[in-house]
Amino acid sequence: MATFKDFRNSVKPNWCPGCGDFSVQAAMQRAAANVGLEPEQLAVISGIGCSGRISGYINAYGYHGIHGRALPIAQGVKMANRELTVIASGGDGDGFAIGMGHTVHAIRRNIDMTYIVMDNQIYGLTKGQTSPRSEAGFKTKSTPAGSIESALSVMELALTAGATFVAQSFSSDLKGLTSLIEQGIQHKGFSLINVFSPCVTFNKINTYDWFKEHITDLSAIEGYDPSNRMLAMQTLMEHKGLVTGLIYQDKNKPSYEEMVKGFKPEGLANQSLELSEEDFTKLVNEFM
Ligand code: SF4
Repeated sequence: MATFKDFRNSVKPNWCPGCGDFSVQAAMQRAAANVGLEPEQLAVISGIGCSGRISGYINAYGYHGIHGRALPIAQGVKMANRELTVIASGGDGDGFAIGMGHTVHAIRRNIDMTYIVMDNQIYGLTKGQTSPRSEAGFKTKSTPAGSIESALSVMELALTAGATFVAQSFSSDLKGLTSLIEQGIQHKGFSLINVFSPCVTFNKINTYDWFKEHITDLSAIEGYDPSNRMLAMQTLMEHKGLVTGLIYQDKNKPSYEEMVKGFKPEGLANQSLELSEEDFTKLVNEFM
């Protein structure tokens, strides 16, 4: 049986020392091993940004896609080979700006896969510009007088888009993050996990200390029930989205694959796609 070490490869991450993305990588590797996967059973598809490099740092199938397009690629991979566990990954700029259209539709489509967003409230790869997750007043090179736009409330948005699994974590909490990724992989549908993953180089506001001071763990809220969508929404609004843990899970909605009629259980990759002589003749005759 594989251990988390089997999901390591020889590529040394070139993230800045202290970047939150290191913990996300470690949690992903641990979660994959903990749910009993072997490296050849996992595909990690990423977008563009510092966090997008993660697909190259995991020993599994990997695809470093284009900006904001990790989800269409990942959904295609899953539909072509349902036997693979598919994780899409990227940053808040990638998934909540250029890729937001794909994010909303992937959520409502509910294909059985996991999407992990490394949310650092800034564009790190391009050296520090305001992202859709930056708070109003946030000063960067692109907003020297402070951003006049408010931050997107992504967890609330996911709930309204019909998400069946919504979770949030903090990269300092390796144990909690690993557990949420395990639950996300095991969820039968689309699981969204947003991770507060500080950019130590360019974001001097949303630091590790800032998150420790502002985050509320849902386990500390008495009577919190992740199957209650209304309560999930109310709790998010009361805490300005700064909660961690399993926010909402709907275990009853069927996944997209389960709803597609005539879809064979085994992946296309393992099916014989050869046409029989008889089917070929029938097809040709149809167009003659
Ligand atoms: Fe991480 Fe920021 Fe460095 Fe990018 S620039 S690797 S997000 S710390």
